[in-house]
Amino acid sequence: MPAPHVSFEFFPPRSVEASFRLHETVKALAPLKPEFVSVTYGAGGTTRRLTHEAVSAIHRTTDLRVAAHLTCVDATRDETLEIARTYAAEGVTDIVALRGDPPKGASRFEPHPEGFTDTCELISALRDSGDFTIRVGAYPDRHPEATSDLADVEWLKRKIDAGAHEAITQFFFEAETFFRFRDACEKAGIDAPILPGILPIEHWGNTKRFAQRCGAKVPDWLDEAFALAERDGREELLAIAVATELCSELVEGGAGHLHFYTLNKPHLTHDICHALGVVQHASLQDVA
Ligand code: FAD
Repeated sequence: MPAPHVSFEFFPPRSVEASFRLHETVKALAPLKPEFVSVTYGAGGTTRRLTHEAVSAIHRTTDLRVAAHLTCVDATRDETLEIARTYAAEGVTDIVALRGDPPKGASRFEPHPEGFTDTCELISALRDSGDFTIRVGAYPDRHPEATSDLADVEWLKRKIDAGAHEAITQFFFEAETFFRFRDACEKAGIDAPILPGILPIEHWGNTKRFAQRCGAKVPDWLDEAFALAERDGREELLAIAVATELCSELVEGGAGHLHFYTLNKPHLTHDICHALGVVQHASLQDVA
């Protein structure tokens, strides 16, 4: 099995301690030579400045290609495009373009009166305003707001037609879920790469709650396996085994690039990548 290409997602730190954790995470994962890393944009647009600071810091201090997440939430079109232009001026031309989650307490997305009403509008505006590499979200398990499984595929097609270059999926637990979605996308004429999003399971209870919120189906066998592992204190071993097996199936099935949701904790992602044959590249300078 060939080693896959990888990329890593981080979130922006909100405290000094969290900044150190992000720094350590980047340092631990950079030697795996990711194709790119990305930094999220807090739900409700809450981390506009922090996302920018984290993206700029990674761009300035490492040789990693860094993508900034950008959403349509709570900003005018001009404000959103100004953020993108600032990135471009700094040399950051990778954007993950999203509609975004609503702010805490709000149940659904309400566009700003002068803002982008959906992701397609944001993508078109980015395409027209600069030379960006645009990635978008995709949903192998149905997005909570989708009217059918096909609606997610059709909407992804519209996002690609609007100018997006690649899609990154929401996390899922079974390779079959991804393959079914990939096949449906191919049938719908989507030829852009679709990168499976992998969530290493740091804490099973939290992962289940998160999955329920974003529509990822939790298989019974996984729930039972974690119940047993928790009883025996083997959650970490199980998390590595489960993710490595999922990733191996994906790679065997033709997925050449995996995107890891690191949650700013490098340990599991690092061990899973190693198990997949993604090796550390160290230079003499690094070890001297
Ligand atoms: P879209 O793909 O635009 O919409 C999701 C689904 O809703 C579509 O598949 C479609 O079925 C339906 N839909 C939406 N609009 C329409 C329309 N106009 N017509 C028809 N159907 C429509 N959230 C954040 O706040 N910050 C982040 O940094 C962030 N990063 C993410 C990264 C990835 C890789 C993914 C997969 C998700 C991320 N999210 C983030 C979560 C994301 O914002 C939510 O899932 C949000 O609810 C949908 O955003 P989207 O751009 O994927 O939506």
